[in-house]
Amino acid sequence: MSQIDDRVPQLGYVEPFEHESISHYLGRLRRFKANSLPSAYSLGQAAGIGGIIARWEKLYFNPFPTDEELGSIASLIGLDLSRFQDMLPSREITFQPRPIRLCVACYGESPCHRMEWQYKDVVAVCQHHNLRLLERCPQCKKPFEIPALWTADRCHHCQMRFTSMVKYQARIKKAR
Ligand SMILES: [Zn+2]
Ligand SMILES: [Zn+2]
Repeated sequence: MSQIDDRVPQLGYVEPFEHESISHYLGRLRRFKANSLPSAYSLGQAAGIGGIIARWEKLYFNPFPTDEELGSIASLIGLDLSRFQDMLPSREITFQPRPIRLCVACYGESPCHRMEWQYKDVVAVCQHHNLRLLERCPQCKKPFEIPALWTADRCHHCQMRFTSMVKYQARIKKAR
């Protein structure tokens, strides 16, 4: 804390998880103790890009985030722009922001929401585990919160742990 630059507010660095979606990452970045930014808007102010971050946290990417916008946040954190770009959905695949989906087996390997779960498919299946993706809490049936708000590895409504949900993910038979 010996050098504080008034013009460029520096945020604490948060290492992205493997396959982490930008919504999940932004929530963690804001809540990180050294940052403690109460809202997407406050992060947008720090980065000088206004209210657009709240839309990304909700998985709304129309208009698609520009390198300039991403770069203005990345430079606050000291994160490589390419790592931010990796958190965005592929533009070749139809993306659907709702319902928020979850593969608990993936989550056990890397505790975050993945963008690929939101790709529009006939049947929503995790390609890594061949399991059907959850689209709501199997216990209370409430939709999952937006990933930016995932704080406790649990359903925000009934507190069921994500790790307890894996038995509700039906295994998909491979056609061979
Ligand atoms: Zn999976
Ligand atoms: Zn629940």
